[in-house]
Amino acid sequence: MKTIRDLDIDNKKVIIRCDFNVPIKEGKITDDTRIVGALETIKYCIDHNAKIILLSHLGRVKEIEDLDKNNLAPVATRLSELLEKDVLFSEYTRGEELEETVNSMEPGDIILVQNTRYEDLEGKKESGNDEELGKYWASLGEVFINDAFGTIHRAHASNCGIAAHLPSGFGFLVEKELKALSVLDSPEHPFVVVLGGAKVEDKIGVIENLVKKADKILIGGGMAFTFLKAQGKEIGKSLLDENNIDFCVEMLENYRDKIELPVDFAVTHEFTNDEEYREATEIAPDEMGLDIGSKTLEKYENILKDAAIVIWNGPLGVYEFEKYKKNTDNLLKFVVDNNIKTILGGGDIVAAATQAGYKDKVYHASTGGGATLEYLEGKKLPGIEAIK
Ligand code: AMP
Repeated sequence: MKTIRDLDIDNKKVIIRCDFNVPIKEGKITDDTRIVGALETIKYCIDHNAKIILLSHLGRVKEIEDLDKNNLAPVATRLSELLEKDVLFSEYTRGEELEETVNSMEPGDIILVQNTRYEDLEGKKESGNDEELGKYWASLGEVFINDAFGTIHRAHASNCGIAAHLPSGFGFLVEKELKALSVLDSPEHPFVVVLGGAKVEDKIGVIENLVKKADKILIGGGMAFTFLKAQGKEIGKSLLDENNIDFCVEMLENYRDKIELPVDFAVTHEFTNDEEYREATEIAPDEMGLDIGSKTLEKYENILKDAAIVIWNGPLGVYEFEKYKKNTDNLLKFVVDNNIKTILGGGDIVAAATQAGYKDKVYHASTGGGATLEYLEGKKLPGIEAIK
């Protein structure tokens, strides 16, 4: 894996593709985690007297009205506070003013360029990896560092486009993600996958890829009900992914000894936090399951206690409702308390772990939503391939 450490960046103009896609309300950043996450790579460049050019996307830009609300300027201000140092900001994604500023930078200077997706307004140049745009941005620097894991599954001008024209490597954030996720290449055994979330449809690729490598796949969440339906069980009004019942039948036939399903549930009548629920092994036709039950929790804990490595994607219940996050939280607590090497595979399970205070206690919490999922599907990710 080629990283920033392998490249000569001393006194060079270094372009870093960051992930500054932070929530901003009325011009104020409401969560700066991603900016804080980028500091290690930026500080390394400062220590090496590089001239630092930062690129990032923010939100989506489809029409003129999207420009203002996705202006990256507040990020430059916050970054400057965090680094206790001036950070220049270019209002424009290209042009003479930007080029002149970059060319007059001193070692250690930093400039943040306007939201790369401003280039999407006319002809999706950034998201479509426009050849000319990638080449233009590359012309601003001498070395390229990709430290934006969240977009590494996309071929955009600001990652793949630039990488095609400059000596390139990964920043520390991406390196950490890839190191953690690479345990999948030849996992230690027993290797257990915990898979929850809403629809089977969204996880087919993950199941197909990991079922071959894993010793056990523990299913939870809304997904479980399509598997139970495939076994001919009554699931009442629980979430059903009708189009994928056949897929579940096939998986259960081929991997009977690997796939584990819930044996009890938190059941209620409506999709709300306000009604009473009961724990049950059977679901009546007018009921729905919104969390796994305590017998399932115990069953899954028994399997997990011997695991050498665990990958977990998707919550086991409707964790947005106070009542139905219980057993997602309980199982998180179990892997943390028992020091079971667990990787949380992005998206909602990381949000659940953050809420419950376990995010920093697990072995690794992957920050990429779509990127992590595609990695778990075994796909080749363009941003990684571009650097390789
Ligand atoms: P995903 O993005 O596929 O990981 O799905 C996460 C979503 O699955 C969350 O919004 C949960 O509320 C939802 N979910 C988990 N368990 C259930 C369930 N039993 N019924 C309906 N939705 C569920």
